Amino acid sequence: MSLSGQKTTNLDAVVVGAGFSGLYMLYRLREAGFSTRVYEAGGDVGGVWYWNRYPGARCDSDSVHYCYTFSDELLQEWTWSSRYPEQPEILRYLNFVADKFNLRPDIQFNTRVKSAHYDEESSRWQIETEDGARVSAKYFITGVGCISTANIPKVKGLETFQGQWYHTGRWPHEKVDFTGKRVGVVGTGSSGVQSIPVIAQQAGHLTVFQRTPQYTVPARNHPYDPEFVEKTKANYPEIKQQLRESFGGLLVDSQEKSALEDTPEQRDRVYEAAWEKGGFGFAFSYTDLTLDEEANKTAADFVRAKIREIVKDPETVEKLSPTYYYGTKRPILDTNYYETYNRDNVSLVDVRKTPIVEITPTGLRTTEGEYELDVLVFATGYDGMTGTLFNIDIRSKDGVPLKEKWADGAETRTYLGIATAGFPNLFMITGPESPSVLSNMPVSIEQHVEWISDCIEYLRDHGIETIEPKVEAEEAWSRHCREVADATLYVKTDSWYTGANIAGKARRFPIYLGGVGPYRHICDEVAAKGYEGFSLSMCN
Ligand code: NAP
Repeated sequence: MSLSGQKTTNLDAVVVGAGFSGLYMLYRLREAGFSTRVYEAGGDVGGVWYWNRYPGARCDSDSVHYCYTFSDELLQEWTWSSRYPEQPEILRYLNFVADKFNLRPDIQFNTRVKSAHYDEESSRWQIETEDGARVSAKYFITGVGCISTANIPKVKGLETFQGQWYHTGRWPHEKVDFTGKRVGVVGTGSSGVQSIPVIAQQAGHLTVFQRTPQYTVPARNHPYDPEFVEKTKANYPEIKQQLRESFGGLLVDSQEKSALEDTPEQRDRVYEAAWEKGGFGFAFSYTDLTLDEEANKTAADFVRAKIREIVKDPETVEKLSPTYYYGTKRPILDTNYYETYNRDNVSLVDVRKTPIVEITPTGLRTTEGEYELDVLVFATGYDGMTGTLFNIDIRSKDGVPLKEKWADGAETRTYLGIATAGFPNLFMITGPESPSVLSNMPVSIEQHVEWISDCIEYLRDHGIETIEPKVEAEEAWSRHCREVADATLYVKTDSWYTGANIAGKARRFPIYLGGVGPYRHICDEVAAKGYEGFSLSMCN
């Protein structure tokens, strides 16, 4: 049922975001007969793949697994060109999905949701968009992504810069030409590591401003051969099941043992094979790489040795060698990243040692000196996990802003990473305290979307007006989430996972590390027990 042309003031559901999450949520709810509208700030579908158009942007889960699996027809109709396709191909895929399922009529583009307040009297969400339009909906569902609010460092003088500057997550639609230019890239996370080798090929000179050196492993992207594609398509039912039951929503070769059970020679062979194969397999080489310091050091030492082998200049090797626990920041995959520092037109500045002081009209100044630049690229990441949710003024039945409920120091946040007490009929797709960014996102998104739409159908079929977590269930989930994280090395590293990249943000680890498969079973069990841990209120 399309809403075009209909009155839109009273909807069953409002969904925010038209990326992987929002598109599938719309499809499911519409199929179940719910009037649904998606609001999307961008000009078209795609979510992160709409915004992240920087050079070198590509996915780093195998594309045959980084896709929807809910439609057999879609799995058969779409063919990925390569293991890690570039952003335009992924965006084409999401457009294909939107067209195939005729989703656009129910998506309002170029519209940012400003606020969503729960009105207890009507048991409805009152939603306002930035253009002043108001709608009311029984269910309010966020599909805003976990890393969509750009972090642009508040560096003195940026407004005076006379060249062009960009953030990787807000890249212009027009081609940015670096030919012959003096380019600076600030940041060496996944976005920096993907873009630096590509920009280096065009720029006159590229200066990389690095605060924390990174471990990265070769992606080894390659075109798929038709036989592999055919076999994969034939095996999708089995692959789908394996992805759903897996730890990270990925299919990787992993040794089900500690790194310390192998001799150094055996370990080297395992790491070398994973390095040669490329991809996330390296991070899963052993079960305890993110659990045990000694095991972790074996992987870290291997990558540091690779840096020494690849990079020619010893001073650059020193600067590029990471010291944090391997894998506790998001593992990165690259194509010729370390090799890029052997180019004559690339230099590396350690801004931990010589911090950035200001941006000048003609470049960037550190405590050491000024670097003249024509173009400045901020690959400085995001206010992750909560930033985008907090940008919407979401208020509880008691008028409490979500931001306040989750204020710094609050230990309790969500039940299952899907819902939060005090906010009836609010659902968060891949919300904080679910596996989200530590999983292959489409797998986790599908799981949440299906759980949420099944839940909403259950409510309708049982004459239930509202659903809301019980405080004690939420406390237990948040505690469980924290205990699982505290047993790992993740919590010992400053990263965007912990909020350490945003000045003043409370440090916590809002990602469930119990694994995608086990997490799915927990959620399914909650549903099977009539939504155990939730309060349900009947329609009058
Ligand atoms: P990121 O991982 O947060 O990296 C940001 C980089 O900027 C870090 O090197 C950080 O240094 C640096 N930085 C931040 N503020 C700075 C400042 N004021 N001065 C100097 N340096 C500063 O961000 P990202 O690379 O955009 O990646 C974010 C996430 O998006 C990834 O972890 C991944 O989950 C996702 N992503 C995925 C893909 C993919 O699938 N292929 C591609 C891109 C991004 P510190 O480390 O010292 O904070």
